[in-house]
Amino acid sequence: MGTRDRAPAVSGFTLIELMIVVAIIGILAAIAIPKFADLLRKSQDGATKGNLGNIRSVLSIYYADTEGNFPSDDLACLTVNAKYIAAIPAARSPSYHPEKSGVCVGQLSGTDSNCRTGLGAPAAWDGQVNGMLWIYWETDTPPMMGPVRRKDDFWLGCTHTDTKGTTWMSY
Ligand SMILES: [Zn+2]
Repeated sequence: MGTRDRAPAVSGFTLIELMIVVAIIGILAAIAIPKFADLLRKSQDGATKGNLGNIRSVLSIYYADTEGNFPSDDLACLTVNAKYIAAIPAARSPSYHPEKSGVCVGQLSGTDSNCRTGLGAPAAWDGQVNGMLWIYWETDTPPMMGPVRRKDDFWLGCTHTDTKGTTWMSY
């Protein structure tokens, strides 16, 4: 008993100090984690915009190559022998839809079962389908939704917005 009484105080953190440290770590994490999530989403947005730009460039190259014709299919012609592009990238609007491959083509519908045909009805407007797809517009009839589009335009059929608050369909 006597020995224990005379034992020197154990040096180290007190419970209060540890609790303060844990609380500070918690506060830092609460600040940092949403920022990381935001950065991640911005980078995913960037990837989608990059894909959009890529396909549009490829369409221009195809147009030049064929001396004035745009594809008349669901862009599968671009990927034959990977001549213009190896594959049409999956369409993605981060945090709203899962990644999905496919192109709906104005009035021609498209290969994906979510594409619709009909009088000016594009396919795959948001909310009508499971997921969202690229839209390639092959007709002079303007689409029913979204900004005015010309023939042979290509865009993302998503009415949600990116991190800047811009509707995907308007890109
Ligand atoms: Zn959407």
